Amino acid sequence: MTTRGILVAAALLGAVAVGIAQTPQGRQSEGALQRRPGADREPEFPAPTIRQYKPKSTLVVPQHPTPRAKFPVIDIHSHHNMPLSAAQFDTIAESMDALNLRMLVNSTGMTGERLVASVAAIRASRHRDRMVQFATISFRDVGPGFGVRAARQLEADVKAGAPGVGEIGKGFGLQSRKADGSRLKLDDPELDPIWETAARLNIPVFIHTADPQEFFQPITYTNERWLELALYPERRYPSDKFPSFETLMGERDRLFRRHPKTTFIAAHLGWHGNDLGRLGRMFDEMPNLYTELGAVLYELGRQPRAAREFLVKYQDRVLFGKDNYQPDEFPYYWRTLETADEYFDYYRDYHAFWKLYGLALPDEVLKKLYYQNALRLVPGLPRTGFPQ
Ligand SMILES: [Zn+2]
Repeated sequence: MTTRGILVAAALLGAVAVGIAQTPQGRQSEGALQRRPGADREPEFPAPTIRQYKPKSTLVVPQHPTPRAKFPVIDIHSHHNMPLSAAQFDTIAESMDALNLRMLVNSTGMTGERLVASVAAIRASRHRDRMVQFATISFRDVGPGFGVRAARQLEADVKAGAPGVGEIGKGFGLQSRKADGSRLKLDDPELDPIWETAARLNIPVFIHTADPQEFFQPITYTNERWLELALYPERRYPSDKFPSFETLMGERDRLFRRHPKTTFIAAHLGWHGNDLGRLGRMFDEMPNLYTELGAVLYELGRQPRAAREFLVKYQDRVLFGKDNYQPDEFPYYWRTLETADEYFDYYRDYHAFWKLYGLALPDEVLKKLYYQNALRLVPGLPRTGFPQ
């Protein structure tokens, strides 16, 4: 074998080891109708890698960067290490003011003493009406009696000041095991007392299930998240180690149906941002279901007309959420939701190989999305700072 042959063989072996099918996909693009002259040629210059090719758009169109939201915003999906020091909270509040972010829900949920400390830090601060702290459930050693105990703890956490549960992380479904070693299914009846308690206390359950469906698919050159999957090993969910995307969606939907009196907020558009019709059918079927936009802006921005229609139709069911608290990323959300700008950049370069387009949502819809739906769903949020 030549040196080159050995290198190729080694590369293929490595690829097989992580389950990547390196099938050549051909040079013709999906939309091409017929072979064009030149289709069989190779570039005369060394071809750039997937990370090097960054064509600069020559399109000249009006630009409306949007540093500040048009109405005050409640971010239902924010993550902060608590308890915050006074100085940390000052810095956060300053960045919030510039963005017109009125309130953050710390959905790094906590329970017991940590929750009490976190709530106390918020209440003792100068910014006590700018953040609330959600509770969480730790799904460890689930066996007989677990649900009743967890529900009792939840009730104590709500009394201690948590106006909601969440974010229940994706580990629930993907990784959590029962005491007997089996995978804890999302719709396990042992957990029923928890969801029923949330309904009785009238608090929402904010839950993140699975991950983008491409993370569960073979890592081929037609996988929309190939680069991301190649960069982040922990985002790969090969079928021999994890339940499938549809298995998890099925368990999740059975959970939502089984507890119609419980308000569920499915994180990240329920990972159906690429199929809003599916999410719409879920809304039609389940009046107890809501969602939020955390980390899925790229899905809305690539289908501005369908997304606008969807958000107008389901304007009472979608909350604003961002996920990572990174102040300089919020303006991309404002611009996409508020303006009619075309073909502008997104802030992640390892997925979403496309530009964004603005949805130009009507003011009434923006207000619901930004704060009115959250005020309605989460009990006892401070009302100061919102238009009457
Ligand atoms: Zn989150």
